[in-house]
Amino acid sequence: MKCALVWFRRDLRVHDHQPLLSASASGLPVVGLYCLDPREYGVTGFGYPKTGAHRARFILESVAELRDNLNKLGIPLLVRLGKPEEVMPELIQSGLDLVEVHAHDELGTEESYVLQQVKDSLGEVELYTYFGHSLVHPEDLPFPLEELPKLYTPFKQRILKSQERCIRSMLPLPERQSVSLAVEEGDLPELAALGLADDELPPQPVFTGGSSAGRKRLTYYFHEQDHISRYSETRNGMLEPDASSKLSPYLALGCLSPRFVYWSLKEAEAARSVNESTQGFLDELLWREYFIYVHRKHGSRIFAAGGLDGKRLEWSSDPALLQAWTEGNTGYPLVDANMRELRQTGWMSNRGRQNTASFLAKNLGIHWRAGAQWFESQLLDYDVSVNYGNWCYNAAVGNDTRPYRIFNVSKQGRDYDPAGDYAKHWLPELAAVPGEQVYDVPEWTWFEQQEFGLELGKDYPFPIVEWMPSVEAFRSRLKQAKG
Ligand SMILES: Cc1cc2nc3c(=O)[nH]c(=O)nc-3n(C[C@H](O)[C@H](O)[C@H](O)COP(=O)(O)OP(=O)(O)OC[C@H]3O[C@@H](n4cnc5c(N)ncnc54)[C@H](O)[C@@H]3O)c2cc1C
Repeated sequence: MKCALVWFRRDLRVHDHQPLLSASASGLPVVGLYCLDPREYGVTGFGYPKTGAHRARFILESVAELRDNLNKLGIPLLVRLGKPEEVMPELIQSGLDLVEVHAHDELGTEESYVLQQVKDSLGEVELYTYFGHSLVHPEDLPFPLEELPKLYTPFKQRILKSQERCIRSMLPLPERQSVSLAVEEGDLPELAALGLADDELPPQPVFTGGSSAGRKRLTYYFHEQDHISRYSETRNGMLEPDASSKLSPYLALGCLSPRFVYWSLKEAEAARSVNESTQGFLDELLWREYFIYVHRKHGSRIFAAGGLDGKRLEWSSDPALLQAWTEGNTGYPLVDANMRELRQTGWMSNRGRQNTASFLAKNLGIHWRAGAQWFESQLLDYDVSVNYGNWCYNAAVGNDTRPYRIFNVSKQGRDYDPAGDYAKHWLPELAAVPGEQVYDVPEWTWFEQQEFGLELGKDYPFPIVEWMPSVEAFRSRLKQAKG
């Protein structure tokens, strides 16, 4: 029997999903496909697993739930371990009478390559692609892409001014299929089949994958607890579970569509009020949008060492310094606590990401792409445009208007974690240090170390880089690069 196939990628949902709706509208029976592509479970240039165990678990949970939701619509979801450009022809050979394939287009060099490979492998079968990862559809941008502002603020202003015109309504759910194809759906693999071990994962993950977990989090944050109305005051928190919305993993893997989040925000504003916090949240959603369009405009330049403008900055790749950073052993508690949180949970706050990125690229002078690849490996919410866009920005090769700025990680620790609770949570060796002194490591005297029951260099590392010389060295490198 002839059928239409929906190829799911980073769009693990059934709501607001153009490929699914279009396939259903074809009148053909629909079948879904999700491929666990071995290339996405390979290693990055710096040798890190491309998809670490935290995100892999989240993906598997999201795919399992997607299958349940599709089955409720009478649509089977095939899950296969393999390259999509090989899996699809194999399905055809084994008797699936495929007439058309519908999928979301994705940004990224590797993602575009895979799409082209799929196109080439399909022969006569039609491939229809759609864009569904951003809030504003590319056709509705209020300016031509070539005129994308160089800086975020004018971009935001243009979008906010025309948001009623440029943000579309959500798409409806497709109708339940009257004919459901009888196909072998295939089991979801264990992490081991993806070359990953689950023994380093926390038994209770911080996040559960899937659309319903995402919706639950959104309802809790926006409506039940009204945390959204305090977002501006809390968003820089690192320890409190509700400091920020924590919707990013659901947005990155498409368990929630950005329009779903946007329209839910509008509902929350209508039910209560528009305030600085709800607008602050929208501001962050638009940062996501901005990096998507920066990527769309600049293409693979966001991965280049010199970033968007091809800046000729020198980078080091000192393996010992890089390892100290990934393992959270730099002797700077804010950096170390955040890096250990990331490794143990797959999560890091925005405050933490800005500080750890600035520290790696600017104070250690390590190639920013090593840091971006470590984040790519570890983050639950890894998103190619947002991750590389933010890294370019924080490494002074992107759209930062203040490239000479360096986050002072000790001051930031004192400002955002004044009682030292966050640092002590992730660095138990600092438990006996009085909270207000946690971020003063370089100044601890021998007597203080005795009092705290620890020895620098043995129980906790000496700072691996001297602060002021590292700041000066970076500024002079940047000045030279500017010529
Ligand atoms: C070096 C670096 C790398 C990053 N890598 C990623 C990544 O791979 N994936 C990712 O989703 N975010 C990334 N971010 C952005 C940001 O840190 C996270 O989106 C945010 O911490 C997620 O938490 P939240 O959902 O609670 O955000 P909230 O504060 O609740 O914000 C709401 C939403 O706005 C978006 N958002 C928030 N901050 C930013 C930002 N700085 N840039 C772009 N979008 C933002 C996210 O989609 C987020 O879910 C990175 C930031 C830095 C500095």
